[in-house]
Amino acid sequence: MNDILIELRGVSKTFGAAPAVDDVSLCVERGAIHVLLGASGCGKTTTLRLIAGLETPDSGEIWLNGECVAGRGAWSPPEARRIGMVFQDYALFPHLTIRQNVLFPLASLNGKLSHTAREARVREMLDLVGLAHCLDRFPHQLSGGEQQRIALARALAPNPSVVLLDEPFSNLDAALRRTMREEVRQILHAANATAIFVTHDQEEALSLADTVVIMRGGKVQQVGAPQEVYLRPISREVAAFLGEANFIHGVAEGEVAHCALGKLPLAAPMHGKVSLMIRPEALRLTASPEGSAEVVAIRFFGHDQLLRLRFADATELDVRTWGSAELALGEYVAVSVRGSVMAYTN
Ligand code: ATP
Repeated sequence: MNDILIELRGVSKTFGAAPAVDDVSLCVERGAIHVLLGASGCGKTTTLRLIAGLETPDSGEIWLNGECVAGRGAWSPPEARRIGMVFQDYALFPHLTIRQNVLFPLASLNGKLSHTAREARVREMLDLVGLAHCLDRFPHQLSGGEQQRIALARALAPNPSVVLLDEPFSNLDAALRRTMREEVRQILHAANATAIFVTHDQEEALSLADTVVIMRGGKVQQVGAPQEVYLRPISREVAAFLGEANFIHGVAEGEVAHCALGKLPLAAPMHGKVSLMIRPEALRLTASPEGSAEVVAIRFFGHDQLLRLRFADATELDVRTWGSAELALGEYVAVSVRGSVMAYTN
């Protein structure tokens, strides 16, 4: 079986003057969780809606399961695409019980699934999300996180070819969001579902995705595993968007670069003036009166702390260290970098 379930080929969609989605090409593998990540307005939701068939592309093609569903004169309506959707407001029917909510999308399978088979499917889905005991409750009798799990159970019930999730946790508080991420990841993998998830939260994207798709201005900037996009961002913009990053001047000479920290190994050979990207947690400090940098600021966060260092040439760097590291303002430190660093020419 082909491993690619969804393929977008040069897809564009414009509403007003600027394109919302601009020449996007993307492959989604079967059974994987893809996360579309980008700032507000970068085209994530429009991409989902194009895949679902809720928008028609101006140009390009969308392929689903080896069949062209949009473009080349072809068009499959949303109901023919077998796509499940989960939105941020859960959209559960308030007047229906949990059982009836999950049963709802199975009603259209009336001819194909017997009454007993549909009831069994509801049980199976509620077991999957750990809420079988809530069968006869109404949505308002569940917590936000439980409602979100029911929304997922309902989307998965008709065994869709893909589940699209648009910021499904944005109504939940921070702690519940973190728990839900892990639960949803496990549920989707247990159901062997292919999923595309939209968020503007970097941490959520990195912890949930098998593949992260970074979007900006309607275009795809980078596609890769979470570790790859975080550690090897394709551009300075992607590096800065994906968490904290220090950028310092350097001169590249093949496999190394010279900068305020001395000679550093580069992730890929380069030459000439560059900006070096160093994540704050990639730096290691040792207190030393002969050290090359002075601690000029300390911000304590509990689980860790952020130190600002200043070198003799006025270069400044932020460093994350363990919260109780015994370094004080004005102290000098020797600084080293774990692993190789990324360099950019701009
Ligand atoms: P957010 O994270 O804020 O939801 P997004 O990345 O999902 O943003 P989209 O909703 O895809 O972004 O919107 C992309 C651009 O297209 C935005 O500039 C938006 O204003 C515009 N847009 C989206 N839908 C429409 C529409 N139906 N009519 C007009 N403009 C639209």
